[in-house]
Amino acid sequence: MNSKSSILNSKLYEALASASDRAYLFVVDIDANECRWSKSTVDFFDLPDEFLPFTSTAWQDGIHPDDIDVFNEDFERILSGQSNTHHCQYRRLNKHGKYIWVECKGHVLREDKYGSNIFAGIITCLDNRNKYDALTGLYTSHEFYNRDLTNEYGYFMLIGIDNFKKVISSYGYSFADEVLVEFSRKLMKLSNDSSTVYRFGGDEFLLVFTGCEKEDIMHEFDNILYAADNLGAIRNKNISLSVSAGAVQFPMADSDIEEYINNLENSLDMAKTTRKGSIVFYSQEVADRQLRIRYLREDLKQSIKDNFNGFELFYQPLVNGQTCKIEGCEALLRWKGERIKDSYPGEFIKVLEDDGNIRLVGKFVMETAIRQLAEWEKKYGDIRVSFNISYQQFMEDGFVDNIIDVINDTKIDTSHLIAELTESCHVENPETLQVMFQRLKDRGVKIALDDFGTAYSSLELLKILPATHIKIEHSFVRELAEKGHDIDYIIIDNILSLCKKLNCSSVVEGVENAEVEKIIRAMNPTYMQGYHFSRPVCKEDFEKMLDKERGM
Ligand code: C2E
Ligand code: CA
Repeated sequence: MNSKSSILNSKLYEALASASDRAYLFVVDIDANECRWSKSTVDFFDLPDEFLPFTSTAWQDGIHPDDIDVFNEDFERILSGQSNTHHCQYRRLNKHGKYIWVECKGHVLREDKYGSNIFAGIITCLDNRNKYDALTGLYTSHEFYNRDLTNEYGYFMLIGIDNFKKVISSYGYSFADEVLVEFSRKLMKLSNDSSTVYRFGGDEFLLVFTGCEKEDIMHEFDNILYAADNLGAIRNKNISLSVSAGAVQFPMADSDIEEYINNLENSLDMAKTTRKGSIVFYSQEVADRQLRIRYLREDLKQSIKDNFNGFELFYQPLVNGQTCKIEGCEALLRWKGERIKDSYPGEFIKVLEDDGNIRLVGKFVMETAIRQLAEWEKKYGDIRVSFNISYQQFMEDGFVDNIIDVINDTKIDTSHLIAELTESCHVENPETLQVMFQRLKDRGVKIALDDFGTAYSSLELLKILPATHIKIEHSFVRELAEKGHDIDYIIIDNILSLCKKLNCSSVVEGVENAEVEKIIRAMNPTYMQGYHFSRPVCKEDFEKMLDKERGM
């Protein structure tokens, strides 16, 4: 068909049509009853010609019968002049006779300068749009789910960057994105004919290895570890980053794809929590752990529902740095579930955080600790209680108000209360955090930086926050007796002198035996804490200790 329409034959159309190979172009000169489809559209959707009468139904004929009404309704509004915009999604046959989802966006220019009514638009294949990840250019998980693996065998490997959340909170999203892009490039370089890389969202990447055995996978993982070695060396930062992986063999009898992914996620989670920087193959051990975490999750939810039944605070003495007399305690959370009775804070607090329930439980901890302090003040007078707060809790709306409400209600001596910020992190919003801490400090509450010296950001936090106490983590302390005046000793000594200069109280944690006590006491900290004095104990046992010491 020869076209008379000038717009359909314009150079601009030609240029646009040949530039777009994944977007399919059409232009209609309504008055001339002529429509031109780009060559790629004609080819991909098997249309009879590049030029067709506008009244031709060649395009409509290929639309899925279930979607044709959607198309017609929208198109009718264009023809009747009710709307100038065409926008809908439907399935259309491609040249292989397969229905694919497309999105069509078009616009009508009525009576333009050429004196014609022009309707032009672009059709995009949704499958194509979902094929590549926008940040890394890797295939998306959508593409993986569409892959046909019948008659193939091999391994799936799910890789995650360790502590990635911390990278985001410490260095911000744009740096974290650069890390992801860099890692993707490295993975792409390592891939070959028998492996494909997919971005699986967040910091996770899925690799499919076909025709491989377990030994090959271990070798591949070694290569990945090697490639990830200097991943943190971006923008002149030199952060040490590691990656962990989970792996599952396929095909596995009776497994559907969701089950594979679930098993992979659990294998990766086990690698991340128990052996960072390693690969964990799915096994009975992973399956048992998977079941334990499911029970944990369910039991924790039930406990919260049952008015925190199963949760309890234990108290570990805080002793004077010279006299070793008990001056207070740190409240530490304990929990026993219906089925899981032996969970420790490092395990169940992580589940609470992942499920967003740490806020509710954190409020319970805060309230219980303050009410306990009120009770002890009546009995013992001078006594301190500290409790732990994670950054996540602190940033929650109303958290400081809640603390102040309980303080007002119990009328405690606020100088006896210590709020410990448990995790060190890059503070995205220093002003907000500063204001919140200042409100507590103005109310007389003491503020402790926990685990000082273990994160990059300890000094940054110290600069921002009005800390009154610094707690030195037990990893520096535990082996002092064996190691003598090594780096740990120097670090503790320097943090203690920093505390003195800043007029902060110091707490040295992890004092496990008499030798360490002697070394620490000679360094003159304000307080000590550790198994040598007592493990964390229940309320009654703590009171017994205190009664004995205070002759009550
Ligand atoms: P943390 O705040 O550093 O608490 C001190 C941890 O060190 C406690 O472990 C305590 O039992 C342990 N510890 C005390 N003395 C010694 C010692 O001499 N040697 C050794 N090796 N360890 C000692 P726990 O109770 O298992 O708590 C672990 C972590 O869980 C706490 O670390 C804290 O970060 C978190 N946590 C505990 N309770 C709460 C809570 O109520 N809220 C929040 N957000 N976190 C909590
Ligand atoms: Ca603590």
